[in-house]
Amino acid sequence: MTLQTIGRPTRPEGDTANTGFKSLTGARGLLQDEPLIFELGGWSKTGVDIPAAEHDASDLAGLTRESIPLPGLSEPEAMRHYVRLSQKNHAIDLAIYPLGSCTMKHNPRLNEKAARLAGFAELHPLAPISTTQGALALMDRLAHWLKTLTGMPAVALTPKAGAHGELCGLLCIKAAHEAAGQANRRTVLVPTSAHGTNPATAAFVGYSVQEIAQTDDGRVDLADLTAKLGPHVAAIMITNPNTCGLFERDVIEIGRLTHGAGAYFYCDGANFNAIVGRVRPGDLGVDAMHINLHKTFSTPHGGGGPGAGPVVLSAALAPFAPAPWVVSGPDGLRLVEEAKDEAARAFGRMSAFQGQMGMFVRAYAYMRSHGADGLRQVAEDAVLNANYIKARMTGIMTPAFPDGPCMHEALFDDTWLEGTGVTTLDFAKAMIDEGFHPMTMYFPLVVHGAMLIEPTETESKRELDRFCDALSALAAAARLGDAERFKGAPYLAPLRRLDETLAARKPKLTWRPEPIGVAPAPLAAE
Ligand SMILES: *Cc1c(COP(=O)(O)O)cnc(C)c1O
Repeated sequence: MTLQTIGRPTRPEGDTANTGFKSLTGARGLLQDEPLIFELGGWSKTGVDIPAAEHDASDLAGLTRESIPLPGLSEPEAMRHYVRLSQKNHAIDLAIYPLGSCTMKHNPRLNEKAARLAGFAELHPLAPISTTQGALALMDRLAHWLKTLTGMPAVALTPKAGAHGELCGLLCIKAAHEAAGQANRRTVLVPTSAHGTNPATAAFVGYSVQEIAQTDDGRVDLADLTAKLGPHVAAIMITNPNTCGLFERDVIEIGRLTHGAGAYFYCDGANFNAIVGRVRPGDLGVDAMHINLHKTFSTPHGGGGPGAGPVVLSAALAPFAPAPWVVSGPDGLRLVEEAKDEAARAFGRMSAFQGQMGMFVRAYAYMRSHGADGLRQVAEDAVLNANYIKARMTGIMTPAFPDGPCMHEALFDDTWLEGTGVTTLDFAKAMIDEGFHPMTMYFPLVVHGAMLIEPTETESKRELDRFCDALSALAAAARLGDAERFKGAPYLAPLRRLDETLAARKPKLTWRPEPIGVAPAPLAAE
């Protein structure tokens, strides 16, 4: 048998015809060769069947379009196109999605059910407040849970992603410094291992960025931090657990030094799933931290939905939080929207309306269905799963920081690939042939050829074993000198090895149809 042009390959195990590829684990790669709907459809067909109009005289005085370049497909053709597309994408609903730092975890269906309740799903952002009391109550309860879990007194719900939350936090910090006559603080300190959004956000706000060195055991270098703090520093931005998957043990001291120098402590909370229910960032001296609801609180992301990045704030920053927020008054709940009274010092707004309501509902449903004890177990299981992978793969791959346990993600470097002719990129591509989504590659930058694996708490031991078995089998193949299987990978994806640099630098974002008015030639044989 040969590869089908659509669907999954059907070659039996061990058949090396065509590609030279031999599956090690029985899993087969991703096939994603489905034409654009415009290339698929002809122009002469339509999926609807309506009787000709009785009066088809046009009032458009000769401006009627002769043709509209929309693809013509019957309903089953359109249906199949989208279902095939949905099957050709890797998704968290298909298998483990071990992308480090991204917390690709199962999205519980209960959350989806709650988000589809008409009272939430069909709400208009400008509906009269008296008709939206339930939605406001949900936002208020969500805010309460976020403040309780983080030990912080205030939260801004509106930011729509982690990076947007970073922007919100830094704008609060900027406003606080300006209010204190400290506008001359123009520098933000960021560790070398930081996620790219941290320095990008600081630069976007107009700060200059200075790097803090890292110690050999993957933590912030306190001596370097101390040397770089000073009256010019507005804030530090630190991720905890950090992007090496390690807890910053000196976090209290980091906060103390930072505050001692008159700067604020921004914590990147993308990894909050590793400590939720166990550690409150407010107790660690954090002044502002975004929480990716789409990571820690399981709302869909990575092609599955928009994000939400609420920011919790310390008492010092709370007065500068952006509008709106929910308060209760004599007539029930209402939104504080205007920059007066209690919002007089708000730095402005982050979005036109109240934020991502659908994500609020999902995250709140997740919190309530887990409860406080369940959320604590989320963190414990996320850390346990990552350590299971670290333990199983140590000796086969080389952990970047072998001493002690990791938090919610296991980080490996490429020392173990030395002499094999296989790079981190080749190895990741070969994982696609085994039916796995690759881990995060080459991040954090401080680790050579980094491979960052985050299993999350929602994977079973069985799935973790399946994943580790595939990694082990691939590692054995690399050691045996089967470089071709890696260099040419992925074999089981119709587009094979893509030029990712070109795609990032010169993306083709538009599909150009034939000029409007000219009936395009049929694209597919009909
Ligand atoms: C995901 C992530 C971000 C950015 O969050 P988005 O929601 O993707 O904007 C920032 N920092 C870290 C460490 C992350 O993992």
